[in-house]
Amino acid sequence: MKLNGKVALVTGSSQGIGQAIAIRLAQDGASVVINYRSHPEGAQETLRQVQAAGGKCHMAQSNNVDATIQADLGQVSEVQRLISESIDRFGQVDILVNNAGLEKRADFWDVSEEDYDKVTDVNLKGVFFAAQAFVKHLKQTNRPGKIINISSVHEELPFPHFTSYCVSKGGVKMMMRNLAVELGPLGITINNVAPGAIVTPINKNLLEDKEKLNALVKNIPLGRLGKPEDVSNLVAFLASSDADYITGSTFFVDGGLLWNYQEQ
Ligand code: NAD
Repeated sequence: MKLNGKVALVTGSSQGIGQAIAIRLAQDGASVVINYRSHPEGAQETLRQVQAAGGKCHMAQSNNVDATIQADLGQVSEVQRLISESIDRFGQVDILVNNAGLEKRADFWDVSEEDYDKVTDVNLKGVFFAAQAFVKHLKQTNRPGKIINISSVHEELPFPHFTSYCVSKGGVKMMMRNLAVELGPLGITINNVAPGAIVTPINKNLLEDKEKLNALVKNIPLGRLGKPEDVSNLVAFLASSDADYITGSTFFVDGGLLWNYQEQ
């Protein structure tokens, strides 16, 4: 299996895309650290499926190490603790998937500082400092590694009423490009995976609004919303040695939405 012997940390993996990524990386042989903020039961469900996928090849999971770690990625000290606890429990981390994220809808003129901070602290600042703590670990142990950020089509595409979200994902785009140049000489790759509209709890309101949903599906050339597995398939490739020469790029998983989008 392609990820045998590797340890992957997936942030925000108690549900949605993060959960699918954790399970898929385990299917490919990785030991997986599952992070959650406030849903331990979701993290336990991810763990159950990770264990079912992995069996004995998971060194930590088969040694009764607790693979779930609570941490609020909106706080830098918590981000740093998450990385150091992952290393303490698993001995190493080889793959960091920055998946945790949130969005807040508001007209631009109504956005509060509190909501702006909530979004950018997790989606941008948290990603920055998770990558930094991970890189320090790789430098100290003189090993290569892979960073995969779950960005969004909205690192490119305007999303009216979600300006703080676009600020965060656009920031992650430039962070990724910059770090590809700075970290390449260390053997560390970094790429973004940019989903379009995927069926997860983040889209609860949209999924419950039939009219909006139908209008959106009409904008997607492949004629459907994405599944979390559509995203995790690509992450598994980028996490593997098949992607060793790939860094500094964004890969869209959007059914063609990006080049065919109209705001309703
Ligand atoms: P989701 O709401 O189901 O999952 C988001 C995860 O992030 C949850 O597990 C949540 O607990 C975690 N999270 C949020 N704030 C956190 C914090 N402070 N600390 C730790 N964890 C925190 O949504 P999803 O669709 O699975 O989103 C995953 C990623 O994919 C996000 O970065 C999101 O921006 C991105 N994305 C999703 C879509 C989509 O259509 N679903 C599209 C583009 C990008």
